[in-house]
Amino acid sequence: QTPAGHESTEKPSLLGLTREALADVLRDFGIPDKAVRMRLNQLWHWIYFRGVTDFQAMTNISKDLRAQLADAFSIDKPHIATAQTSQDGTCKWLLDCGPGVQIETVFIPDGDRGTLCISSQVGCTLNCSFCHTGTQKLVRNLTAREIVAQVMIARDELADWPKGSAQDHHRAITNIVFMGMGEPLYNFDNVKDAIEIISDGEGISLSKRRITVSTSGIVPHMEKCGDEIGAMLAVSLHAVRDDIRNELVPINKKYPIQDLIAACRNYPTATNAKRITFEYVMLKDVNDSLQDAKELVQLIKGIPAKVNLIPFNPWDGAPYACSEWDHIEAFADVLLRAGYASPIRTPRGRDIMAACGQLKSASVKERASARRNQQ
Ligand code: SAH
Ligand code: SF4
Repeated sequence: QTPAGHESTEKPSLLGLTREALADVLRDFGIPDKAVRMRLNQLWHWIYFRGVTDFQAMTNISKDLRAQLADAFSIDKPHIATAQTSQDGTCKWLLDCGPGVQIETVFIPDGDRGTLCISSQVGCTLNCSFCHTGTQKLVRNLTAREIVAQVMIARDELADWPKGSAQDHHRAITNIVFMGMGEPLYNFDNVKDAIEIISDGEGISLSKRRITVSTSGIVPHMEKCGDEIGAMLAVSLHAVRDDIRNELVPINKKYPIQDLIAACRNYPTATNAKRITFEYVMLKDVNDSLQDAKELVQLIKGIPAKVNLIPFNPWDGAPYACSEWDHIEAFADVLLRAGYASPIRTPRGRDIMAACGQLKSASVKERASARRNQQ
């Protein structure tokens, strides 16, 4: 018997291949050169526009070829280990990506918008002191297949594939943020391929303006991110002085605030229409004084930006507390008066540990309870 989530490793998967890579696979498979483009478009439409899960459903491809493709390739996705829904409607899926390897994907509905928060790595190497994901030991990069599959699985679960034409489709998932587990710029190539696939106009077709890559500030990869990926950028700033940021985001010792801000100033696509989002987690008595807010305004002066204030989401053993609500509002006011939009992110899904920085705990608990069940 095959362990859950491993069927797809037996046959090469067609998911997560860019158009070029998929064309190469089809050519190697023996599709005549002159038919490659047509077959590619057919497969792309069924997989990424219709969201079919079986080659048999691809009715404009001959029965014989469908059977041959099904023999040779897989379009399976990782299995859902658990699905949870919060009282506020937030959904969290724990996905099996191999033995002991689980990742989390979170959907946050908000009026007529819905944001899908996806992971780029299992765990994270960066150990930010306020983030639970950073305490997870196991780390590996997710493949482009595993990244794209998070979007496809969420669409399956939310019944969010178009039933008719693209124009008639009222999307449940309107935005995607790489704010789950992991540092996306440390998995650059796979994140880039995944975004190319997700934004392809003949498939899932989510505009790059609605896809945000969040980085803790990996300065040497930022310019390349603007040039080659071209999605929206969010930067986890969290502090205005190096001594504090060194504590909160230790990668700051390597890429300090001045270098990070310079990279933001030079960011290729930063314009008023494509502002950079600075994320700032509100930690009581650590980084939340009004003086900090004023210094923040000075620091980002001239950068087309908005500031997203994130109330700290607690986890067991975390050495921080969340700032008082009034205090967060006063901090936001300073930014607002200086002309920066400064939305305070409403904590969502805290009851299922799906809020920012809480991911991991559930998967560890999940594994512990699975072990208990086996005993
Ligand atoms: N590694 C990337 C993206 C994933 S983290 C990054 O750091 O930007 C996504 C966001 O959640 C980051 O802004 C991160 O600082 C924030 N975050 C992490 N732990 C948090 C917590 N406990 N409470 C609130 N926000 C948190
Ligand atoms: Fe990694 Fe981001 Fe968490 Fe820091 S905040 S440990 S970079 S996931």
